[in-house]
Amino acid sequence: MQFIETRGNDGRKPSSVPFSEAILSPSASFGGLYVPQELPNLNEAFLTGHLSSHYKTLALDFLQNFGIDIETEVLEEALKRYDTFDDPSNPVPLSKVEDDCFVSELYHGPTRAFKDMALQPFGYILSKLAQKRGEHYLIMAATSGDTGPATLETFKDQEGVQVACLYPDGGTSDVQRLQMVTEDASNLKVIGVEGNFDDTQNTLKKLLASEDFKAELADRNIKLSAANSVNFGRIIFQIIYHIHSYLELVRQNEIAMGEKIYLVIPSGNFGNALGAYYAKKAGLPIEKILISSNINNILTDWITNGAYDLTTRELIQTESPAMDILKSSNVERIMFDKFGPARTKELMEALANDGKYQLSEEELASLREDFDASFSDDAECEAVLGAYAKKGYIMDPHTATCMKAYENLREKDLKTVVYSTAEWTKFSPAVAKALGKEVAHDTEALKWVSEHANVTVPPMIHGLFDKPVIHSVVVAKESIKGEMLNFL
Ligand SMILES: *Cc1c(COP(=O)(O)O)cnc(C)c1O
Repeated sequence: MQFIETRGNDGRKPSSVPFSEAILSPSASFGGLYVPQELPNLNEAFLTGHLSSHYKTLALDFLQNFGIDIETEVLEEALKRYDTFDDPSNPVPLSKVEDDCFVSELYHGPTRAFKDMALQPFGYILSKLAQKRGEHYLIMAATSGDTGPATLETFKDQEGVQVACLYPDGGTSDVQRLQMVTEDASNLKVIGVEGNFDDTQNTLKKLLASEDFKAELADRNIKLSAANSVNFGRIIFQIIYHIHSYLELVRQNEIAMGEKIYLVIPSGNFGNALGAYYAKKAGLPIEKILISSNINNILTDWITNGAYDLTTRELIQTESPAMDILKSSNVERIMFDKFGPARTKELMEALANDGKYQLSEEELASLREDFDASFSDDAECEAVLGAYAKKGYIMDPHTATCMKAYENLREKDLKTVVYSTAEWTKFSPAVAKALGKEVAHDTEALKWVSEHANVTVPPMIHGLFDKPVIHSVVVAKESIKGEMLNFL
């Protein structure tokens, strides 16, 4: 199975590449992304065959049907990472919160956000590939909070890969910062940057584009890769849990095999939603994928009226910061699939040059066959959080944005799976506030919520406050390059 490019081929890169190449060097011609040439078939025989499968068994069979060039033993080892999740017998539990609404909890891994679902196995595979080729990779990440911890955790002490992670000093929660600065491994570097997330990300982009930085890396024989969701190595693992959630509903006797369901997905870079789209396209019985956002609701516009317009917007900080995103990278892969490479290139160039584009009516209609979308502001999220807490279910603010889509967007009376992308413990001050208590620090908020709502704080969050800080560096933007070269 080969991978092709969303904006077509420039004649310098190969016209298609195997999976290993697409994940080691994820940037395609004209600034595009890699996408699979075809998808495995998720027909009823496949689904029925996995009704009593463990998550890892389902995942292995799916990956093998994809025909990727990774050896079975490596895939098996990678999937063992799910054994560290809260319940190794089921890493992704499904909780019933309404008669027809179920929350699929994607956050039971080591860093308590859904990023672990893909980054855990992906990190193992990437580092094995590097070792096999005798190559050395640098992964650089700018994080607003969840990607950083998950990237560091998956690569720590893995040979052939070094990770440098930049975070905006003061721009993450205490828990998120501690998850990064207490990571102790010689192949990891964490740097706080003076400024906000945009400053941090722009600094990283400039560094990655700079010729003398590239020359310095070449001198040291280091190649660059990426661990954000532009890397298909993450997306492939984000198809599997949609299949698993469907099978869970069948196992719990909530649906019959073949019955359609709705999915509700809190979205930012659209990687989670893209995984659902591929699952639907491959045959999983999904009626529609409902996208939820916070007030940075550019995806709501895109899906309801076909407009993608950055020129009228500024990023607004919310209580669901992982979705404070305006340039959503995986939208491009959907456009490629529906409109082809020439049109995708045209639209992405319009976005880069004019800051906006508009889909045609037919294009919008095609998009709306698979998707619908809505958004919630912070006050609406707090109300949802409070209402579900009263019923005994504590969710995080990202998950809370989903309930409006569940209530308003369904046209048919079908069972619905809402994805929970983070544990409440990562955003405890916002959760405490929603439950009626304003506290400034995570330590107090964790304590108050756990006592007030009778929920436990897992040991990996609890223990953070006693771990020694390893990475205390906070620098101005100008000093990042020097810090990086020291590290390398
Ligand atoms: C990353 C993240 C999201 C957004 O996921 P995408 O795949 O980028 O759309 C939503 N919620 C949380 C908690 C996240 O960490």
